[in-house]
Amino acid sequence: MSLIGPGIIGVFGLAFLAAWSYDRRRPYLALLAAACALFALGAASQILYWPRDTGLNAMVSGALYTCAVIAAVEGVLIRSGRAFGIWIDVAIFAAFCLALYYFFYVDRSLLARIYVQNFGYGLLLCVAALRLAHLRHGRVVDRILFWTLLLLGLHFFPRTVFTVGASPPSGGPLVFADSVFWQTLQLSLAVLGAALAMAILAAAVSDLIDDLRRERDLDHLTGLLNRRGFEAEIAAPMRRAPEGAALILCDVDHFKSINDSFGHDVGDVVLQEIGAMLRRTARKGDFVGRLGGEEFAVFLPDASLADATECAERLRQAIRKGRIPGLDSRSVTASFGVATIREAGDWAALYKLADSRLYQAKAAGRDRTVDCGM
Ligand code: GH3
Ligand code: MG
Ligand code: MG
Repeated sequence: MSLIGPGIIGVFGLAFLAAWSYDRRRPYLALLAAACALFALGAASQILYWPRDTGLNAMVSGALYTCAVIAAVEGVLIRSGRAFGIWIDVAIFAAFCLALYYFFYVDRSLLARIYVQNFGYGLLLCVAALRLAHLRHGRVVDRILFWTLLLLGLHFFPRTVFTVGASPPSGGPLVFADSVFWQTLQLSLAVLGAALAMAILAAAVSDLIDDLRRERDLDHLTGLLNRRGFEAEIAAPMRRAPEGAALILCDVDHFKSINDSFGHDVGDVVLQEIGAMLRRTARKGDFVGRLGGEEFAVFLPDASLADATECAERLRQAIRKGRIPGLDSRSVTASFGVATIREAGDWAALYKLADSRLYQAKAAGRDRTVDCGM
């Protein structure tokens, strides 16, 4: 019976291991697998009573449990980039081991060891939850993770007082294993530990889905939004304030000849540099995307035609003045078409209008901005 709790945690350990082997970019999953394994080992050492020496058993199982809690806490914190760091971990581990040693070999007290371990672990989990307090405003999975972590930490306090009061552990390891304290400890840890493990797995899965979504919406060469991501991102501002929106389309001039003269790799660098220039030059709150080939777009959620034209001119100057590695002294230029939703009506018409103005800029000799019928 008493092996059920550690068994469940062991199964979660395997789940974390499987998740980590599937996605090695998340080392925190490996740490959580290790935490589960350490916890199961700690429980096994206590239940199977190995090592046989009482003091050694208390030290070994205590050290394993402490490592498990520290690894679990660090695993959850690393996921949010808020880990304690190795030296704090070592210090916490040493403090626990010293306290356990003291209350066994110097001033023997099982009760003191129970309090040190349970209050200590509870405190550690609560501190970790407080470090992740920002998660309570995040996605549903993050909120569940925060509250489960906090609950697991808090439950160590009343449960320890209650179970120790109800059945003072005495009479050696075998009686202790049957005590209300030990049984309650195993069950509540198993239930809340399993809840926390499920919350972390759910959070890891949603992290993975978010990553895939981001990859789907980003252009790998420039890091800008691709056409799909761009259209998805501007949908909300278009709905909120459709009247004020403007679109700038930008197409690099004679890009084919850059590819032909300098090679495709240099062409790629040119696209990356132009992408970076557009991102630097656009205002905060504007959306920049690479819609395909050497065509870029900037969406301004709140701009008049004059504002958008001024912005396009700034972008055009930035490109023409920018020096790109690998192009010797040759400068790159681009043509721009600008239109507002006020003129066009909807997204499809806005794109069409800006594109026809871009075409006019090309026809008129390139390296210019067109914002009205010519
Ligand atoms: P224009 O001034 O009329 O725009 O002429 P252009 O040469 O820029 O336009 P054109 O459409 O004739 O050529 C675009 C070229 O862009 C052709 C294509 O091979 C190249 N291209 C498209 N995507 C990429 C890319 O990801 N990397 C590189 N290096 N070249 C690309
Ligand atoms: Mg071009
Ligand atoms: Mg083109």
